[in-house]
Amino acid sequence: MPRTQRIPCRAVIFDFDGTLADSMPFLERIGVQVMMKYYAATLEEATRRYRSTTGLPYEHQIKMNFPGDEKNEAAISEFERLKIDRIFDQELFPDTVETLQRIQDMRIEAFVSSSTFQPTIEEYFRRKGIAGFFLEIMGYRPGFEKGAHHFDHVKSKYGLPLDQVVFVGDSLKDFERSRGFCKFIGVERMFSLQDFRRIGHEGPVVKHLSQVPPLLRSVRTRGPD
Ligand SMILES: [Mg+2]
Repeated sequence: MPRTQRIPCRAVIFDFDGTLADSMPFLERIGVQVMMKYYAATLEEATRRYRSTTGLPYEHQIKMNFPGDEKNEAAISEFERLKIDRIFDQELFPDTVETLQRIQDMRIEAFVSSSTFQPTIEEYFRRKGIAGFFLEIMGYRPGFEKGAHHFDHVKSKYGLPLDQVVFVGDSLKDFERSRGFCKFIGVERMFSLQDFRRIGHEGPVVKHLSQVPPLLRSVRTRGPD
């Protein structure tokens, strides 16, 4: 792509599950398992309910599917326990590290925005030895979620104008979160190019993370380009 057509960019915010790490099959397995156990859902029913709300924190997935159910808190706790037990076994995608290295070489800042609890997501990257690629790893706590909260934090804490920030995510919900805040690049994994187009994303959709840096143009205002 000609350099002038690339997205002017000072920072990239990466979604975690399904974008940097190949964790979606694992999350679906335990998410469905918990729905079957607590709500006597069949495998088909639980899978349908899980997929229709994927990309949201599990807490919201449960509350949307089973509003007001007295078993909700127990189900959410069990999911979080199962997730913490196994999250450190989840692998990065093969091109995650080279993509982060390329972004760093371009002098573009990188962030993580995840629906996983803060201490867990930070520990994950420490164990993988790549926490240093990120200016900040943003996890979930009530009142500080992936989406508006994280974007506003990047803008106010680091003074990064959001029209020069790109959010990279694999779910349709990620695109919806970015609307009105920052640019978006979709990653085709569980959702196709057509899925992203159908909900109104007219920008880039890639199959692999390594296709992201060539779409960007560094616009650092200080220091050598
Ligand atoms: Mg994701």
